[in-house]
Amino acid sequence: MQKHKIFLIIGPSGVGKGTAIKRIKETDLNMFYPVSFTTREKRINEVEGETYYFIKKNEFEEKIKNNEFLEYQIVHGTHYYGTDKNSITESLKDSSVLREIDIAGVRDVLQNNSHLPIVTIFITTNNWETLVSRINKRQKMNGKELEQRKQSYQKELEFMEKSNYVVYSEENKIDDLVTSIITIIKQETNA
Ligand code: 5GP
Repeated sequence: MQKHKIFLIIGPSGVGKGTAIKRIKETDLNMFYPVSFTTREKRINEVEGETYYFIKKNEFEEKIKNNEFLEYQIVHGTHYYGTDKNSITESLKDSSVLREIDIAGVRDVLQNNSHLPIVTIFITTNNWETLVSRINKRQKMNGKELEQRKQSYQKELEFMEKSNYVVYSEENKIDDLVTSIITIIKQETNA
């Protein structure tokens, strides 16, 4: 079994993916956590270079031209998001990789990089209302933004069945979510 793998965390907004990854980063798991590029605005509490590099649209398009992305997408109908190809393929020699991306990005990677050892982990919760309340706790969104998240949510659910793993994220049970993800990673990498 190939030891190092690319674990792609997918699932609707507000389900706890980002928080879970932050917690996993604090463990001693031997993992590379690639920083993606995005053209969306930095939120309060976000740190440049932690999860994203926040760049301008023209800078992003320059990177597209230079073929620097493993995949890139316009997410929720507005901003570019893209994963850096070089850092991911290089780090795979020494460790597994863990990154959250959207389902269109996953489809793209699976279609165009079938040689890569990809494992998809879908995180979900029981319904849309639970997600809205969690999203609004994080940062209140306007109606248009919420509608875009809802459309993405419906598409995301369709992808659930095609994922390698599905993990349910219950309110206030982030420890369980983290444990489930780590268990999957350890199983898959024989760690
Ligand atoms: P947020 O703006 O809330 O941080 O993320 C919005 C969406 O963008 C999430 O569904 C997240 O999974 C996705 N995303 C984050 N980074 C990437 C990336 O590098 N590529 C793609 N395709 N999607 C990403």
